[in-house]
Amino acid sequence: MWVKVLCGKYAPGGFDLYKHKVDGSSVWRAVLQAKTMLLEGFSLKVGSGDVSFFFDRWMSNEPLCRKVPDGITWQGDVSGVYSAKSGYGWLINRENADLQDDSSWLWIWKLKLPFKLNYFLWLVCHSALPTNALRVQRRCTNSDICGRCGVVSECIFHCLRDCCKVRAVWKVVGMDSIPWFWNEHNLVQWLKNGVDNFGITFITVLWWIWRARCAECIANENIEMMEILRLARLMQEDIHRVFGVSIVTPKEVRWVS
Ligand SMILES: [Zn+2]
Repeated sequence: MWVKVLCGKYAPGGFDLYKHKVDGSSVWRAVLQAKTMLLEGFSLKVGSGDVSFFFDRWMSNEPLCRKVPDGITWQGDVSGVYSAKSGYGWLINRENADLQDDSSWLWIWKLKLPFKLNYFLWLVCHSALPTNALRVQRRCTNSDICGRCGVVSECIFHCLRDCCKVRAVWKVVGMDSIPWFWNEHNLVQWLKNGVDNFGITFITVLWWIWRARCAECIANENIEMMEILRLARLMQEDIHRVFGVSIVTPKEVRWVS
């Protein structure tokens, strides 16, 4: 019934999903919006859909399926045939998946920090920090070896936690007595634990460790361990002042003034 009503009102000459009506009503705009999303659920299929694209023998000597007419198949149902019910279900699932993906990083964007720090954490979580290991993968350099110790591949964990130069910093911060800090191998979990337990202390030290690494490896400038800690401390005080975030320190912290 609703199909007849919509078709009568909006498409008396036939229903064309590709046709846009700029000044349409809210109902029409909703239909168009759903159309855009639903179109993603369709894909091309070859022939009747029960043949092998690569291995079945096609007509005469034609390669592949040049003579077989292509059709459109619906991904939202095993039959490949679209129905209103499967379309609705597909839209709901898609929306849930999108929400889940976005909300999984909300904890980073909700942190009250200068934006560059939120973004830095996001990069780390996505294994997108340009360490030498990543730069080799992207063909920006020939060697993945750590530029500071010169011993092993510079993955993110090595860069931010495990390099001998970095371990010394974390030990002064008070992390040497915290087993999970050294044993965690999941980057996101490690970051989450660090943020949950030590807040901006963890984040700012992490940031300055990265900054010092870049200064040393790119500009050949050496930022001493005590200077890293001093800069991190200054940053914490700024964040505390501007965002009202309290400063948490590890139990056995031995901060330098
Ligand atoms: Zn190293």
